[in-house]
Amino acid sequence: MSTFEQYGLHHALNTSLAELKYTEPTATQQACLPDLLAGKDVAVEAKTGSGKTLAFGLTILNKLAQLDGTEQHPHALVLCPTRELAEQVNYQLQLLARRMANTKILALFGGVALAPQLSSLRHAPAVVVGTPGRIMDIISQGKLDLSGVKTLVLDEADRMLDMGFSDQMDWILSAMGKQASEVQTLLFSATFGGNIQQLSKRYQKNAEVIALDDAH
Ligand code: ADP
Ligand code: MG
Repeated sequence: MSTFEQYGLHHALNTSLAELKYTEPTATQQACLPDLLAGKDVAVEAKTGSGKTLAFGLTILNKLAQLDGTEQHPHALVLCPTRELAEQVNYQLQLLARRMANTKILALFGGVALAPQLSSLRHAPAVVVGTPGRIMDIISQGKLDLSGVKTLVLDEADRMLDMGFSDQMDWILSAMGKQASEVQTLLFSATFGGNIQQLSKRYQKNAEVIALDDAH
């Protein structure tokens, strides 16, 4: 049986994986975790329910666990197409980070008041999970500086394109003000059509493309 031990994750993550009863990585996680943890840009095409959140969550948090806590936050940005998805991803990451003291994760999405989200930003979250529109608003107001981001995740990238978030994604990525070589950019999608390939070409460098037909 394959286990998470093989990846040499930070002990805080191994502890939370055990506590959360995640014993065996899914086929999708087995296929992509080595490249993800090696810091490569990866485009993963795998069906819904195959465990993509845990794959990028471990990538973000394992990188964060190696740092000394003095670097600029946020360290990672996860873009999701909807509020519901942002909340789900936030919830999963909070669970995974439960043994990492002082690692703050914040969800930023529209449809709710802005003020409480702006207040939460004062606590310097290490990871921001959010929807493109609200993230753009907050950057425009000068309340979110993404120049410390080392890991960028475009989750459900196919849905973000279908929902017309292409311009917002472009805007946010240029607001990060970084060379692509400084950021590990990860793209997750249930489909891998031509528009996703273009997105990958635009934002990723030498991306490993991992496609799982029957991932579970
Ligand atoms: P996807 O993003 O690929 O649609 P999710 O990341 O939402 O899938 O995961 C689907 C479900 O599988 C979640 O409930 C998650 O907790 C569970 N899951 C993820 N990885 C594992 C694992 N290794 N073992 C057991 N359950 C897992
Ligand atoms: Mg998902």
